[in-house]
Amino acid sequence: MKTKMSLTTKIFAALVLGIITGLAVYPMKDNPFISKYLIDFIFNFLGNGFIRAIRMVVIPLVFFSLVVGAAGIEDVAKLGRIGIKTLIFYLSTTAMAVILALVGGNIINPGKGVSLGTVAVSNVTVGQPKPFVDILLNMIPINPVEALANGNMLQIIVFAILVGVSLSILGERTLGMKRLLEEGNALSLKLVEIVMLIAPYGVYGLISKTFATFGFVAIIPLFKYFLGVVVILFIHCLITYQGILAIVGRYNPLRFLKRFAPTMMVAFSTASSSAALPSSLKCMQETFGVSKSISSFTIPLGNTINMDGTAVMQGVATIFIAQIYGVDLSMANYITIILTSTLASIGTAGVPGAGVIMLGMVLTEVGLPMEGIGLVMGIDRFVDMFRTMINITGDAVCTVVISKSEGEKLQEA
Ligand code: ASP
Repeated sequence: MKTKMSLTTKIFAALVLGIITGLAVYPMKDNPFISKYLIDFIFNFLGNGFIRAIRMVVIPLVFFSLVVGAAGIEDVAKLGRIGIKTLIFYLSTTAMAVILALVGGNIINPGKGVSLGTVAVSNVTVGQPKPFVDILLNMIPINPVEALANGNMLQIIVFAILVGVSLSILGERTLGMKRLLEEGNALSLKLVEIVMLIAPYGVYGLISKTFATFGFVAIIPLFKYFLGVVVILFIHCLITYQGILAIVGRYNPLRFLKRFAPTMMVAFSTASSSAALPSSLKCMQETFGVSKSISSFTIPLGNTINMDGTAVMQGVATIFIAQIYGVDLSMANYITIILTSTLASIGTAGVPGAGVIMLGMVLTEVGLPMEGIGLVMGIDRFVDMFRTMINITGDAVCTVVISKSEGEKLQEA
């Protein structure tokens, strides 16, 4: 009988098989044959081969998706006031989400107690603390080609946004260029799709290697990471969002949740903001009664740039990976995480698993090993379902708040 497994099922199966293989190999890990050929060759090749392939697609993906995203928001100028309010809302709630993730991550300490630092990676270097002004200055590339070649993400983002904005100002005159960049975006999404085909093997290699080296103790931090992200997501949803809704928007949070729940379920089950977009838009207009002129701007824009759930995951995952590798993060590292996760979540596509690929960008900026992605990838789909739900809830809260601030009468009973 031939059954077709979805990629998610395969990745999860690879995680489980990896744990089983790793645990079976663990007692023999000091055998020279096992360590040389199985752990350091086969597991290592599968795992790191996958990581290298992910790294290959990150830079084109970030560049093209941001240029295209920025080039598409011509409406910001037209909608003026609403545009600015929306951007402030999206950016500040995302930054709040990352700060919450960093505080929560330091309380939960998902990766404390198990240090893979000595065995898995020997030369972990974490960025030296830099003065804040240098972090800001360093975001401006003096040579964009160099920024791309060196993979300096913050510089790439600044350049990409400026290119996008210029394209949208030039309009007709650069239509060909815009098309080309849009095709570049489609191309990089295809590359991601192809690379993800080997994800099950990569995850199998990375997880087998981890468990073969550390045995059963490696599973505890993974659970703590998962629970940590979910708890922080709920705090962000129930306290930050509902607080803003009640205080700024003067809208009953319980009514909001009841009305928006069906859309949240779409996001939860598909793990894709894009898939939940039509339902979200319809719900805002028909169930809440928000005008088309506001909702058809805030919802699609938020769907692409406002991903607080993804930012929370990236914050907690970065702390988790730093702790696993025994790296102490400095204040400057935390500021870098807040900035990069906010930007990385903006650049994340609304499809399953996109956020964990963009996590590579945060890890690179902080100077942590990309192998860390492999540790969280096996359970990422579960995390993804929860974070996608929060991603789209933020857009809806913003829409209600802005609609009320513009004096619209919503259905509140
Ligand atoms: N799946 C998420 C979304 O569509 C993106 C992510 O992977 O974080 O919103």
